[in-house]
Amino acid sequence: MNSSPTNGSDDVPERLAGSPTAQGMAVPYITVAHRDRSRPVWGQLDPARLLTALVDRLCQICGQPLEDPAVLHLRPADYLRGITPEPATHQDCGAYSTRMCPMLAGQMQRYNPVVRDEFTRCDDPACGCRTWGRSEPDPNHTPREGQPAEAWYRVEIGLSDYRIITDPGNDHQPSIVGIDLRDLRFRSLHRIRDAAPGTGDRQPVDLLATLIVVRTLFGEGGVLS
Ligand SMILES: [Zn+2]
Ligand SMILES: [Zn+2]
Repeated sequence: MNSSPTNGSDDVPERLAGSPTAQGMAVPYITVAHRDRSRPVWGQLDPARLLTALVDRLCQICGQPLEDPAVLHLRPADYLRGITPEPATHQDCGAYSTRMCPMLAGQMQRYNPVVRDEFTRCDDPACGCRTWGRSEPDPNHTPREGQPAEAWYRVEIGLSDYRIITDPGNDHQPSIVGIDLRDLRFRSLHRIRDAAPGTGDRQPVDLLATLIVVRTLFGEGGVLS
């Protein structure tokens, strides 16, 4: 979702026109970046902005208030756990992200490991990069690094169904704050990309794929693309 940009179409949605850009791509609101936001650390999420986006119902791409319907990008593991740590997006921001992000566009088969050299401090004394070296890895996202790519799905939900919860975690999973997926009504459900080839035995059970089959049978609109 916020890995280095692809060379895809740069057809930028109007609401992103004023956003800071780097390498020709709008820098997502939740991506770690130096103060002027034009020098991001692709693939790294800013925990404070992540929480603000979730709690204040902001789009994770443009940082503006969400509209109805809200779009979620989900992995099978999120659905199994009943919570996603990824803030929602607008429809057009989500479509833009799907085109530009190499992970969502299916061009990457493995998540980027953290490259510590990218955490270079700048000369701006007011920039948040002063604290980067001391911050802990984001527990919501570090398990993904270096791991084979999972399948990703796009769902649309009603904004009135958007609920933030805290999952306390257990011996195997850290606690996370995120959007409650249990009993959440999906207005639409589409597969964006498949899991990395040959990793089926290392992937979680894909109940979202099953759900699409069920929805298709009952005419509720689901597409395995
Ligand atoms: Zn800086
Ligand atoms: Zn947006």
